Amino acid sequence: MAECVRVICRCRPLNSRELALKSEVCVEMDQSVAQTILLGDGPPKQFTFDGVYYMDSTAEQIYNDIVYPLVEKVIEGYNGTVFAYGQTGAGKTFSMQGVENIPAQRGIIPRTFEHIFTATATTANVKFLVHVSYLEIYNEEVRDLLGKDKMQKLEIKEHSEKGVYVSGLSMHVCHDVATCEELMARGFNNRHVGATLMNKDSSRSHSIFTVYIEAMDETGSIRMGKLNLVDLAGSERQAKTGATGDRFKEATKINLSLSALGNVISALVDGKSKHIPYRDSKLTRLLQDSLGGNTKTLMLACISPSDNNYDETLSTLRYANRAKNIKNKPKINEDPKDALLREYQLEIERLKQIAVNGSSEQVIVQNVDLEEEREKLRAEFEQAMNQLRAEYELEQKSKAALQQELASLQSQYEKAQADIETDTNPADIKKRIEMLQNQLVGGEQVNNEALKADRQKKMKAAEKKMQRLAAALNVHRDDPLLHVYNSTQEKLEALTKQYTQEQEKVRALEREVEDIQGEFELDRLDYLETIRKQDQQLRLCYQIFEKLQPTIRKDLNYANLEKIRKEAIWDDDQQRWCIPEVVSSRTNLPSANPNALGQKSEQNYIHEDDDGISRLRRKLEDSNVDDIAKNYFKPLKATDLVNKYKADSTRMLSERSHHHHSNSSSKSSSSMRHLPATHDGLNTGDLYSDDLIERAGSAQRKPHRLDALPMPRNKSFT
Ligand code: ADP
Ligand code: MG
Repeated sequence: MAECVRVICRCRPLNSRELALKSEVCVEMDQSVAQTILLGDGPPKQFTFDGVYYMDSTAEQIYNDIVYPLVEKVIEGYNGTVFAYGQTGAGKTFSMQGVENIPAQRGIIPRTFEHIFTATATTANVKFLVHVSYLEIYNEEVRDLLGKDKMQKLEIKEHSEKGVYVSGLSMHVCHDVATCEELMARGFNNRHVGATLMNKDSSRSHSIFTVYIEAMDETGSIRMGKLNLVDLAGSERQAKTGATGDRFKEATKINLSLSALGNVISALVDGKSKHIPYRDSKLTRLLQDSLGGNTKTLMLACISPSDNNYDETLSTLRYANRAKNIKNKPKINEDPKDALLREYQLEIERLKQIAVNGSSEQVIVQNVDLEEEREKLRAEFEQAMNQLRAEYELEQKSKAALQQELASLQSQYEKAQADIETDTNPADIKKRIEMLQNQLVGGEQVNNEALKADRQKKMKAAEKKMQRLAAALNVHRDDPLLHVYNSTQEKLEALTKQYTQEQEKVRALEREVEDIQGEFELDRLDYLETIRKQDQQLRLCYQIFEKLQPTIRKDLNYANLEKIRKEAIWDDDQQRWCIPEVVSSRTNLPSANPNALGQKSEQNYIHEDDDGISRLRRKLEDSNVDDIAKNYFKPLKATDLVNKYKADSTRMLSERSHHHHSNSSSKSSSSMRHLPATHDGLNTGDLYSDDLIERAGSAQRKPHRLDALPMPRNKSFT
């Protein structure tokens, strides 16, 4: 059954800065009809939600009113998502994480832990397995906040049955509140925090804390609920935060995820678009199921009451107002294929079987089985290794990567072997069964009637509250045309009143159109600015590449940029280009005629907008390509020898000056670079510039052996 995303709005108190600035409060709330009223220059703007919470509200109230029933559903096997949206400093983290020292303000995340473990403890005949994971999206990169290496970037993948998931994300089993809290605190401390002008501690990242609850009843059927608790990065426009440089890069990318979220919401609400752009950002891909999918979703819109945040508050309220119209189709996840509980259960059964079959006869049978299993493992290992070897020869994969794969295969094999060994030891088996069973929770407090009653009471209270609100909202929806009136006068008055109300609505809609246009204009400016900055970055990369391209050896595939461009494939999953490996092709040996070479060089090296370095590099490449061995013993003409002699003495001079005036040497060598490249000697002299130490060294050695030169006819030149 389809149901809408629930949206609540929370307004924090004025903070000390706003109080010092004597900011005015521009937000009012009417809790009886769940309305937020924004006061500005024009008439007040009203927004109706599923609940509104003013300055003095607590996380406890919010939890009991609306999060409690949602988490109950997750325990039943539904998926649930709670996400906090709003500008930096509006109270997202305060609501999700909360503060420890004020019990009523403990956040939504720690409250779910208590709730879940109370629920599991008071449920009879059901075993639960609870896992948590905590990730962060920062600069469009996903990182595990609880992983061994928190810098490692994780990939988002899609599985036909599992759906979208983060590959390699660590999941931690939890059997009590304390473990969950410890994990939450650990992950939270690993979050990226950046100081913007608006709020020193504000986080520029999106974080998703997920609780996975699997439940198995006596019949063995499994239900699996997943609860995402999302703390989004600040929704403010980047101009206001004064973001520049590196922080600007973050801001553009963070806006990318939030803009994508906005676009997904628009597309869902619009109803006409067939394509929902989930794939446009990491955030929308991970929240795909929560927006228009199989999830019960709650959005918490956090706002500031201060009039100097009017624009951002309006933007948040409008965003939240749109999200109300998203329709989801939540259903219980029954007997999912990837349930871990089933694996646990199978393993426990298997171990128990081994423990029971401990008699000597069976041990022999078992040992035969073991031998068979060992043999099977060995065969598998060998087969896999052969395959790897074959791959090595075929694909010429990098040696290091393959060795790593081999090593991991080896360790897997050894582990499997070790497992078999321990399987035969009764003490070990007992220990492992205990360990596995300890990870499951459920039924510890089945007889605690007070706890059970409390759970019931909370559910009832939440339901009642919702019903009251629905009733209050329906009161105003009487149709005056269906009413029976005593006189025409009375009817006229009622209709006039109705007419005035409708006119008011039209005016409100007109203002709405203006708001949208204003916001659209701001978005447009934002996008233009982003495009401009990105264009500059692109140009920089391009210019760097243009400078470098002449230095690429001609026999490398990368010398032909057009071809590389054609071969590049965009990988949507990884959000990057797959480009060909650098491959070197064989080159035909060039003609060994030094004169011909010289001419070719002259033509090649004079290039209008070239500077010395590029010329030099190209010359070096060509000298690499040339068949050195062939030219080595080739007789040189006298003129070549004279040039060589000049070149050598220039080089020695320049070397000397380099040692003696190391400060001025860079100047002199750079001025040399700009001399005409046609002069061989100077060209040779340029080979010793600092950038090219290695190659210059080898090129310099080339002509040193003169044994094979013919004797010059005119000896006087020496
Ligand atoms: P965000 O995560 O949205 O950037 P925070 O949750 O960090 O903002 O809140 C910013 C500041 O405002 C914090 O110091 C927090 O303690 C305070 N604050 C936020 N919401 C409330 C609230 N409802 N009541 C009291 N203080 C609040
Ligand atoms: Mg925050």
